[in-house]
Amino acid sequence: MKQKKFILPEREIPTQWYNIQADMPTKPMPILDPKTHKVLKPEDLYPIFAEECSKQELDQTRAWIDIPDEVLEKYLVYRCTPLVRAYGLEKALDTPAHIYFKNESVSPLGSHKLNTALAQAYYCKKQGITNITTETGAGQWGCALAYSANVFGLESAVYMVKISFEQKPYRRSIMNVYGATVTASPSMSTRAGKDIITKDPTYQGSLGAAISEAIELALTTPNCKYTLGSVLNHVCLHQTIIGLEAEKQMEMAGEYPDIVIGCFGGGSNFSGITFPFMRHNLLDGKKTRFIAAEPSACPKLTRGKFEYDFADEAGYTPLLPMYTLGHTFKPANIHAGGLRYHGAGVVISQLMKDGLVEAQSFGQLDTFDAGVLFARSEGIIPAPESCHAIASAVKEALRCKEEGTRKTILFNLSGHGLVDMVAYDQYFAGDLTNYAVSDVEIQKYIGSADALNVNL
Ligand SMILES: *Cc1c(COP(=O)(O)O)cnc(C)c1O
Repeated sequence: MKQKKFILPEREIPTQWYNIQADMPTKPMPILDPKTHKVLKPEDLYPIFAEECSKQELDQTRAWIDIPDEVLEKYLVYRCTPLVRAYGLEKALDTPAHIYFKNESVSPLGSHKLNTALAQAYYCKKQGITNITTETGAGQWGCALAYSANVFGLESAVYMVKISFEQKPYRRSIMNVYGATVTASPSMSTRAGKDIITKDPTYQGSLGAAISEAIELALTTPNCKYTLGSVLNHVCLHQTIIGLEAEKQMEMAGEYPDIVIGCFGGGSNFSGITFPFMRHNLLDGKKTRFIAAEPSACPKLTRGKFEYDFADEAGYTPLLPMYTLGHTFKPANIHAGGLRYHGAGVVISQLMKDGLVEAQSFGQLDTFDAGVLFARSEGIIPAPESCHAIASAVKEALRCKEEGTRKTILFNLSGHGLVDMVAYDQYFAGDLTNYAVSDVEIQKYIGSADALNVNL
C-alpha cells in the first residue's frame, strides 16, 4: 500500500507565491555594487545567497512562482493559518467597521517568519549547502531559521542583537533546542563586530551590525550561505502566501478589505498580507488602502529619505534604493525588536514612492495600549511588533466610528507575544513611554552611505 504523505488531512493552500515586481508600473530601481556602482545581476549575489533566492530577488517578469513541494509539505504543518473576524475588538471599540485579522502566530515558532525560513533553507539544501547563517533581532527570525535548518538537515549559526540576547533569553533557548549556535552581536568573532566594539564597547547591538557579522561569516566559511528574514524581495515574495490565503478566506466571508494593515520592520509581513490585494489595485482598479505601521522610534517610512543605502551597518551589502534613516542609525531600545531596522525593502520603497502605500507611526506606549485591548477582547497576546498593526487598525476603526462609515479592515497578526512578557511587565509597571526620535537625530545618519544621492 502506498504510504500516506501527511498525517494531517491534506488542506488546500496556495501552491505559488505572488511576485508583485512583474505587475508594478514603475519597476524598482536596480541594486548596485557599492564600489563600482555597477548594476548587479543574480550571479553577483550567489556568493552570499542561495542561487534560487538570488534569481527571485531580481525577477521582474514572472508574476507567479511555484512553491516547491518540499516546502509545501512543511507549510502544511501550520498552514493555512486562520482568518478571524475580531468581533470582540469591534465590540470593545463600538465601531461599525468590520475588523479581520490573519493569525500568523499559530506557526510552530509563533510568527510569520517561518514562511520564508523554510523556503530559504530548502533552496540552500537543494544546492548542496551545509551551513546557513543569519542575524536575529528580537529572536523570531533566528528561531524560524534554526527550526528550518533542522528540518532540512543544515547547520545554523545565528548572530543575535546583544540587547535581545540579554532581554529575551528564551528565544536563545528555543534556537538551542533546534541545534543552532547563537552568538551575541556585536561579537569579537568577526572583523565587523570587532570594529564596532572598538568604537563603542557599550554598544547594545542592532540588526544592521548583526547582518554584517553573519554576511562576513558566510563569505569566509566554505559551503555556507547567508539568509535574511526581511527587507529583500525574495523574502517578501515568500510571505505572499499570507495574503493569498487571506484573499480566499475573505472571499469565503463574503467581504473584500477597504484597508489592509501590517506592522513594518523591513517589510516582509506587510508585503505578505498586502501584495496579493495590491495586485487588484494595480490590475483591476480596486482602491484598497495599504497602511504600514512603524514605531515612532524608528520611522523610516514616515520620516526617512528615499536614497541608495546599505542594508547593514558595516556596509557589506549591495546598495539598495530605499526609504532609510541611514544604515548607521541607532534606534532606541524599544521592545518591538523586529521593527528596529533602519530601512525598508526595495519593492515597498518604490510602491511607497508611487503612492500605493501609506505609513503611520506609533509610540511604544500606544502600541501596548492597543495590544492589551486586543488580548482582552480577542484572547491572543500579540507580539510587541504586531501591536503596531493593531494600533493602526484601532485608529482606523475609531475613524469609521467618528465618520459613521462601515469599512472592512484587515490586519496581519504577525506573531504572538508569549516570549515577550518582560515587555508587558514593564508596560504594567508604567515604565514605557512614547519615545519619538528627534529631527536632529534623524538628520545625523541620513545620507550615511554617501552613495549616489542624485535626484531619486
Ligand atoms: C520580524 C517580525 C516583524 C517585523 O519584520 P517584517 O519583515 O517587517 O515583517 C514583525 N512582527 C513579528 C512578529 C516579527 O517576528
